[in-house]
Amino acid sequence: MIFAGITKSSLLDYPGKISIVLYTPGCNYNCFYCHNRAIIEDIDTIVPYEEIMDLLEKRVGLIDAVVITGGEPTLHYDLIDFMKKIKSMGYLTKLDSNGSSPEIIQKCLQEDAVDYYAIDYKAPSYRYQEIGRSEADSEVVLKTINMLVESNKPFEVRTTVIPQLSIEDLVQMAQELPILPRYVLNPYRQPTTYLEEDFNLVTATPYSEKDISEFAHALKYYQPNIVLPF
Ligand code: SF4
Repeated sequence: MIFAGITKSSLLDYPGKISIVLYTPGCNYNCFYCHNRAIIEDIDTIVPYEEIMDLLEKRVGLIDAVVITGGEPTLHYDLIDFMKKIKSMGYLTKLDSNGSSPEIIQKCLQEDAVDYYAIDYKAPSYRYQEIGRSEADSEVVLKTINMLVESNKPFEVRTTVIPQLSIEDLVQMAQELPILPRYVLNPYRQPTTYLEEDFNLVTATPYSEKDISEFAHALKYYQPNIVLPF
């Protein structure tokens, strides 16, 4: 397993828990608003594995959980073994994913490697490729999400409310998704690094928290378990 970064202590990445966050390099999507562009483009800068294991061993009992995020962690063939290893050390595990690998999520479920999942749902189906680009495909992501619904494992789905999504888009997304145990609407924040050709997309005026609260109110009819992180 290779990692491109670590956050040694976070209160934000695992609901109600203190976590260490590990970032895997590389992604099969190319969202213009990606906040981890450095690690999806530069897949050669690696944090030594020994450094990570050393930290994990020292923090057992002090930190509740380890979050594996990216990039896209499911691209790494040894993800499941690594998560099982962390669990055996006494940590809870959380996996952040763009939902593009239902087969890997199914294996994680079968092997009970993950305690909490967070899956992105980025756009209505008809715009999924436009927003996620590259390999983005809503059908595959919905397959992942439906699998998690059936599993009864704790999970959440997250949507970043980028300025390019309209209220009609958000309603369509809420209708396309099964009823979720937790649906988080995150406000858009401009990334510090982005592709030059995405300047106009990245600098579009974001929705305010008030706008997003109003959207959430409208979506509650379809998704009763909406959560706003502000
Ligand atoms: S799926 Fe996530 S990590 Fe990949 S490009 Fe999009 S925002 Fe970045």
